[in-house]
Amino acid sequence: MILLFLLIFIHISRYFSEGSPLPVTRSSALQRVVRAAREIKIPRNIQRIIDRNYFLVFFIYGILVLMFAFGFLIWRRCGTRSPRTQRRTRARHNNYIKLRPTRKRELVSLLNADELGYDENYEVDPRHLEMGRKLGEGQYGFVNQARLKNRIDVAVKRARLSYDPEQQKMIIDEIKIMCAIKCHPNVLALVGAVTSKNSNGALIITEYAENGSLLDYLRKIKSQSIFSDLLVYQGVPPQKTGTYRKGAGLSTNLNFISTADLISFVYQIANGMVYLASIPCVHRDLALRNVFLMGDGTIRIGDFGLTRRHENSDYYSLKISFRINNGDIKLPVLWMAPECFHTHKFTEKTDIWSFGVSLFEIFTLGDKPYAGVSDVSVFLKNNRLEEPQYCNKKIYDFMNLCWVADPLFRPNFKMCADFFKEHLKILCDQDYTRLDDKLNLIFEKRWETECWIRRESE
Ligand code: AMP
Repeated sequence: MILLFLLIFIHISRYFSEGSPLPVTRSSALQRVVRAAREIKIPRNIQRIIDRNYFLVFFIYGILVLMFAFGFLIWRRCGTRSPRTQRRTRARHNNYIKLRPTRKRELVSLLNADELGYDENYEVDPRHLEMGRKLGEGQYGFVNQARLKNRIDVAVKRARLSYDPEQQKMIIDEIKIMCAIKCHPNVLALVGAVTSKNSNGALIITEYAENGSLLDYLRKIKSQSIFSDLLVYQGVPPQKTGTYRKGAGLSTNLNFISTADLISFVYQIANGMVYLASIPCVHRDLALRNVFLMGDGTIRIGDFGLTRRHENSDYYSLKISFRINNGDIKLPVLWMAPECFHTHKFTEKTDIWSFGVSLFEIFTLGDKPYAGVSDVSVFLKNNRLEEPQYCNKKIYDFMNLCWVADPLFRPNFKMCADFFKEHLKILCDQDYTRLDDKLNLIFEKRWETECWIRRESE
């Protein structure tokens, strides 16, 4: 097309200047172009075609100019919007950045981190990290609090063995997965990464959640009896009614919380999962230990080390040929949908099952599911988890929907988010609006932090 464009341009230049002195113009550059065009030899047969079809040539030329102008306009609109405009648009639609659409496979493509790339913009000089106290540890790694560039608190995850290639690969894979997931207010954000040679091996630098995992937080709330149950009870002995006492609102300091806060946590988890499902990404390990509570009461879904091994007794090694990273992986059997025991396939609907189990954890303030059950797969043939103490019948019915045997009949995450949004609005409408504004602001703040980190690294 470019060739055709050039050809026509040359021809028109020749036409306008043919036999005559060069156009009267002060621009010597234009004169040079026309002279050069005159001197170019066009093959005779092409010249003849153009001579015979002048109208057609001008028509094609016009179309090309129009196409070029449109192309340019579209490129300006989509490709190079200013960062500020992009940020505003994302925040306004609460739609955030979407990945290129990928084929929705049953075992999500994101699991195969080999297919994903690493965004070099995340690379951080390890000298800018000041390591602090240890926050926790798993079988293959540690998580520390740290300060980045003397300014931002972050959590830093590293492998236990900095020289073990398999552990290093797990960290790198998790970084790649987090790069691909990008940004949502309810998903733990990657702040940076160290992938270059470093004595601690590769490092994942994420947002730091001041209140740690939601599981630990709720257990603390329960043990200190700083929870207000808003359910209305009637009769002797008191029986739950379906209604809540109103007017409690969301906690501002998280030192004392109520049922409204629990529903806000659930809504935010569903909100984050709607985003992950849209990528599409199957978390496969949705449980309260992997959900984090920030200081401002907002929730982050974290832990994308889906391929890692756990010593934790909640995990269970399936002796199957389900191999990622050349080894049997351990799966969170108590949170897993029963079809996964046989098919080993994970979908949005299997995450929905885990979401239901997470609801049980939330509305019991951190009880372990299936306590006292020796074989969960046998138990699930005819039973389901019991109704938690702090939810009403409507919510328990919804949990049971998440645990329908046929995955097709389970709700999707959009339905979950809508269901709990409605609940939250009924309980505290104004606080719901404030929460939504807060979530949009997170996006804005993250962008500023990112810009600051990048600017400082230059
Ligand atoms: P993990 O190895 O990811 O399961 O993390 C172990 C523990 O470290 C968790 O149970 C949390 O208590 C803590 N932790 C992990 N990531 C964070 C974070 N971003 N902010 C605060 N605490 C964290």
